[in-house]
Amino acid sequence: MIDRWPRSSRRNLLRAMIGGASAGLLCPIAPVAAADKMTKARAAYQDTPNGIYSCATCTLFEAPHACKVVEGEVSSDGWCTAFALAD
Ligand code: SF4
Repeated sequence: MIDRWPRSSRRNLLRAMIGGASAGLLCPIAPVAAADKMTKARAAYQDTPNGIYSCATCTLFEAPHACKVVEGEVSSDGWCTAFALAD
C-alpha cells in the first residue's frame, strides 16, 4: 500500500515523523523550564516578616535558606507575596 505513495511523499512523511519524534524527545525539557523559580523582585520578597508571617512559617520554605518558588537565598525572617501558611 505504501508503494503507491510517490517517493518524495514517503521521504517527506519520514522527515515529519523523525521531526515529530525529535520534538517529543525535547518535550521533557519544557516542564523544567516552566518550573523555574521567581525572582525576588517578582515575588516582592523582603528580608523582614509581614506581621506574624515569615518564611519560617511558610510551607514553601526549605531550611536553612532556600525556597521552592523564589530563587536565591532567603531568610527565615523574610516574606514574599507567594507566602503559603502551613495548615
Ligand atoms: S514563598 Fe515567599 S514567604 Fe514562602 S518561603 Fe518562599 S520566599 Fe519565603
